Amino acid sequence: MFGVSDGLVTNVSLILGVAGAHPAGDVVRISGLAGLVAGAFSMAAGEYVSMRAQQELLERELDVERQAIRKSPEAERRELTAIYEKRGVDPTAARELAGEMMRSPELALQTHAREELGINPAQLGSPFLAAVSSFVTFAVGALLPLLPWLFTSGTRAIWASVVGGGVGARAGGVRPAGGGAEQRRLRPPAEGA
Ligand SMILES: [Zn+2]
Repeated sequence: MFGVSDGLVTNVSLILGVAGAHPAGDVVRISGLAGLVAGAFSMAAGEYVSMRAQQELLERELDVERQAIRKSPEAERRELTAIYEKRGVDPTAARELAGEMMRSPELALQTHAREELGINPAQLGSPFLAAVSSFVTFAVGALLPLLPWLFTSGTRAIWASVVGGGVGARAGGVRPAGGGAEQRRLRPPAEGA
């Protein structure tokens, strides 16, 4: 939804700005379309780059974890036991549970990734899909204030853009300052390996 309001807010200002200076429908239509395409591509590229960077970081952390499990399984088992104990598991049960989880390297890695890094190694996300989704949501938002200009122009279209933009912004929720969407995806850094 954040992408939708991004596109909406960006293109409403662009369209109204252009419409104020050049009321001809064609000029507004072309500007609005250019704003939609440029904005959607830029959002998609930004999303792709940030997802890719985050994925590489997680893959590096997974690698560190994988090596630690192979080289010092005993320390990793103790670490897991401590995590379970800290969560309130009884010490004996925590030791058994950790021993069980360390039995196969794959399960051990999954468990350490989940408990220490807070991630599922099988679901690191797809930068490409995230980029496509950013493109589409921005484009949908940017299309809303542009729609009236496909059917009419002049003052009527300007009002329709304003009203459509307001309704859309209310429905989509206006993006909070500071870009909460990006921050929510990031995990806290891992403590140790
Ligand atoms: Zn570990």
